[in-house]
Amino acid sequence: MPVLVMKFGGTSVATLDRIRRAAKRVGVEVANGYDVIVIVSAMSGETNKLVGFVDETSPLYDAREYDAVVSSGENVTAGLMALTLQEMDVPARSWQGWQVPVKTTSAHANARIEEIPTENITAKFAEGMRVAVVAGFQGLSDENRITTLGRGGSDTTAVAFAAAFGADRCDIYTDVDGVYTTDPRVTSKARKLDRIAFEEMLELASLGAKVLQTRSVELAMRYKVPLRVLSSFDEQTDEAGTLVCAEEEIMESNIVAGVAFSRDEAKMTLISVADRPGIAAAIFGPLAEAGVNVDMIVQNISEEGRTDMTFSCPINQVKRAQQAMDKAKASGEINFHDLVADENVAKVSIVGIGMRSHAGVAAKMFAVLRDEGVNIKVITTSEIKVSVLIDRKYMELAVQSLHDAFELEKAA
Ligand code: ADP
Ligand code: ASP
Ligand code: MG
Repeated sequence: MPVLVMKFGGTSVATLDRIRRAAKRVGVEVANGYDVIVIVSAMSGETNKLVGFVDETSPLYDAREYDAVVSSGENVTAGLMALTLQEMDVPARSWQGWQVPVKTTSAHANARIEEIPTENITAKFAEGMRVAVVAGFQGLSDENRITTLGRGGSDTTAVAFAAAFGADRCDIYTDVDGVYTTDPRVTSKARKLDRIAFEEMLELASLGAKVLQTRSVELAMRYKVPLRVLSSFDEQTDEAGTLVCAEEEIMESNIVAGVAFSRDEAKMTLISVADRPGIAAAIFGPLAEAGVNVDMIVQNISEEGRTDMTFSCPINQVKRAQQAMDKAKASGEINFHDLVADENVAKVSIVGIGMRSHAGVAAKMFAVLRDEGVNIKVITTSEIKVSVLIDRKYMELAVQSLHDAFELEKAA
């Protein structure tokens, strides 16, 4: 029988009632003739609670134990979903990541899926089981330790299962009815897109649109998995939601497809480092080793052989970054006067494949921000995106005015 992957995010399984509602959706697809792999998240708020426990217990925690703790939320929902389906007379059972096993790298808290053996689940389908409920977000490393895939990782579990099982489609059920031109919580003018290109979705996700985890989009693109984002609350039709698909499958699109933002940024400046060959390697090598995800980088012009180096990283990695830099300074690898952390910044980005063939998009973005009196601290660009770092208090204003200026509420 054809296989379908259905993923339910935290809000879609937040209560027993919602689990029942989700299970009914699964029942519809079973009746449609699919063997279904259901990927579940933890009940909404659970993962945050678990992360909080870990942070409070050990601020610079051992990531292996972080994974042992934070992966557990998904186990509860997997069991409850299987029980709910059984109550509806749908033959179902649950799997935790290690039981499949979902084999991952050992990069704890941010592991990548390497392999998903299909035999186990396929054999159960052959025996008449109709639904395999799999705990999302978690896997098993070569060292036999539980791993997690980074926040939002259940999306990636879902797409990886869809690829491994050659599923007809991967449906991501969430609390919005599709991918919008920007987060609908920030402007009511946000417009739902019927389709969005993989490349654009990849950029939006990596720049902060958490509707899909970046890695899930990467996998869908690589393995050509038809990926759909839709609401677990609305009645569904075949045309519901947003299809994430190849660029060629989209007839018309705006030059700017969407605006993304991320609140969780910090700007770090190393004051007065020696401007010499190898200085960037000496700074960013230790940061990488410490697991700091550096995003934007600017090096100032130098004066008398010394310069300032600014970079941005996720706000929850500031301590790690400080520690890594202090260590490098103590060992004599680098020398700096001071390390200043600005934790009141946000990143706002515009994304669109139309930018490849249209000049002036970045200039227009800067003019819009100027007109709103928003100061830009750092800029980065690529072929299909422009990102700026600004004061966090202007983030919503920037998103709304860019959304207006690029007329995203109107379809092309
Ligand atoms: P789930 O728990 O189902 O995985 P998430 O909270 O991870 O759900 O992702 C859904 C949320 O993503 C929405 O509630 C919305 O606020 C946010 N979001 C951010 N950017 C977008 C966007 N461009 N389109 C739709 N939703 C977005
Ligand atoms: N529960 C995990 C998280 O909140 C994984 C997920 O929901 O995708 O990040
Ligand atoms: Mg999510």
